Amino acid sequence: MNHNYFETSIEYVKGIGPQRADILKKELKIFTIADLIQHYPFRHEDRSQFHKISELHADMPYIQVKGKVKFTETIGEGSKQRFIAYLRDETGDLELVWFKGIVGIKKFIQVNQEYIAFGKPNEFNGKITLPHPEIQVYNPQEIKEQGTLFPVYHTTEKMKQKGLDSKALAKIIRGVLPEAVRHIRETLPEEVLIQHKLISKKEAITNIHFPKNIELLQKAEYRLKFEELFYTQIRLIRQNLYRKETYQGFLFKDTSLLTDFYKSHLEFDLTNAQKRVIREIYKDVTSGKQMNRLLQGDVGSGKTIVAFITMLLAVGNGFQACLMAPTEILAEQHYQGLKKYADKLNIPIDILTGSSTGGNRKLIHDYLESGDMKILIGTHALIEEKVKFKNLGLAIIDEQHRFGVEQRSKLWHKNQAIFPHVLVMTATPIPRTLAMTLYGDLDVSIIDELPPGRKPVRTVHRYDAHRLKVFGFIREEIRKGRQVYFVYPLIEESEKLDLKNLMDGYESITRAFPEYAVSVVHGQMKPKDKDYEMQRFARGETQIMVATTVIEVGVNVPNASIMVIENAERFGLSQLHQLRGRVGRGSEQSYCILMTKYELSKEARERIKIMVETNDGFEIANTDLRLRGPGDLMGTQQSGILDLLIADLAKDAPILEQARQTAFKILQEDSELTLYKNACIKHQLESLKKSTTNWARIS
Ligand code: ADP
Ligand code: MG
Repeated sequence: MNHNYFETSIEYVKGIGPQRADILKKELKIFTIADLIQHYPFRHEDRSQFHKISELHADMPYIQVKGKVKFTETIGEGSKQRFIAYLRDETGDLELVWFKGIVGIKKFIQVNQEYIAFGKPNEFNGKITLPHPEIQVYNPQEIKEQGTLFPVYHTTEKMKQKGLDSKALAKIIRGVLPEAVRHIRETLPEEVLIQHKLISKKEAITNIHFPKNIELLQKAEYRLKFEELFYTQIRLIRQNLYRKETYQGFLFKDTSLLTDFYKSHLEFDLTNAQKRVIREIYKDVTSGKQMNRLLQGDVGSGKTIVAFITMLLAVGNGFQACLMAPTEILAEQHYQGLKKYADKLNIPIDILTGSSTGGNRKLIHDYLESGDMKILIGTHALIEEKVKFKNLGLAIIDEQHRFGVEQRSKLWHKNQAIFPHVLVMTATPIPRTLAMTLYGDLDVSIIDELPPGRKPVRTVHRYDAHRLKVFGFIREEIRKGRQVYFVYPLIEESEKLDLKNLMDGYESITRAFPEYAVSVVHGQMKPKDKDYEMQRFARGETQIMVATTVIEVGVNVPNASIMVIENAERFGLSQLHQLRGRVGRGSEQSYCILMTKYELSKEARERIKIMVETNDGFEIANTDLRLRGPGDLMGTQQSGILDLLIADLAKDAPILEQARQTAFKILQEDSELTLYKNACIKHQLESLKKSTTNWARIS
């Protein structure tokens, strides 16, 4: 068997040649035979039905008719020339019209021959015509062999110009497939195939392109999706196991500091969910292995205190701990909140951000290196080269979705000998399917319970035209002592315009509420000024906060009970949900008011609707995944792993679940994949590793 067959460059494929190969490489990144046969069609056309010519009308999509050509003629001169073939079935005649390529088509069409024509009906001078149809001689035997489901491939404008349309591609693929299929090896163990009723890889590849029937097409899709997801999971689970086997972890066994904190300084009882998560973390940090845990919890579920308690475990065992937040405001807020506790426990704590000044910075660096500083809160400034710890035992990352994977790993390496335990926290509820794929290498804890006494935020949708009424309601609430956020979108491309929007809004709000103090915070302000305004609002010196999304993440002002989101149609779902999470933190009834104009896109309307309907972050995340697709959801930085050829995380959750369980069971029994029955997995993993561009390779 020739192992390099699939690596064969496509210019050697019959029907391609160097020029077409060039286009395929440039336009579709198809370099090898493996790429070519993994260029799956995105849908199939059902060519089993023939329409009657008398039934055709111009509103129909693509249709297919069968009949005999009774007569042909060429009309017009030069560029106006057209060729017409009159096709007749038992119900009538139809004009098939060509304006281009007339010479070729004239030669092809024979009068009295039976043809199948496929195209989009058009109305011309009151007559139905079929311009530039696909046409082939009617051959029942061939149809029986090839099936009636025709693949439709993604192509580009440039390709079409060079005659490489979907049909041409289908012809090329049909040409290589018989030979390619001979070289295909099975990539899933026999047992898995049987258990999940999967068809073989050979059958799957054949039928994904040229299915004999719908059922086989579905089986082929299922099989290929399963395989793709299975291998993402095998890789992630192996990584996780490997890390657990390889990386030692510090032991945080001493809990006396923690007990002290619980007994004397914690003002509230932890929720059961918080307690459960802390137990999970404790188990990790006393296991002797490095912890890599993702902590998910909806906004306001109380992740910060869990983070602090984990820090106390580190500090109580003689280690340092750090917490990295995505913005200065958030870092500052964490610092203020945690310093209160740390001071009571006599634990040295400090903050390091981009705006920390030179002298102070130097001092912090020194104390970190000497080990005197125990807890450091900060922003990206934490991962700078200069920042060195004496013995960092724990690194926590807040609002993980704001950071890239690379930044995460930089924190890890802050301790060279043994990696610190890592806890990443996120309030962006990630749908389970996505979490399994993106963070399949992490262990996951979930806080699925809000602290007691919280009333769910009431969300309403109001049009801009009803602003006065909204203001009236807000005035009432402020009179009762509440505070209000007004949030404006800020999108980078139109930053200037948005800023103007915000400042206009600020003015009209100060005019509408002359009796109250208004703060304003936006991205163009110096961190110091931002902070000053935030603090004034937090202390209740201002009643209204006008801001951009800089307040999106983490800011905590329990007395603020109204969140007004201006131009709500311009925000994504997870952002809306995050913003709403800024209210509903106290015991008062809170409100989220989504302001929009009248005309909304269908999608925007759906986003607003789901926001009004539910407070459940996971439900919202699932809707988001459905509306936007997974790539968008997580930002580009993490999308590498989402380069799936055929599986769709938004739709294929059940397959993913099956694939993950299967992968898990196999690795549990045979973590090194040394058993003979798993040899094909090992082999496939190796060839996936080799291929950098596309790790779903076949050979
Ligand atoms: P998030 O999970 O969004 O980061 P925070 O950690 O900021 O949430 O917590 C939100 C608020 O809830 C804070 O004011 C915090 O002190 C409070 N809180 C956290 N846990 C509890 C609890 N078990 N009981 C009462 N209040 C709590
Ligand atoms: Mg938080």
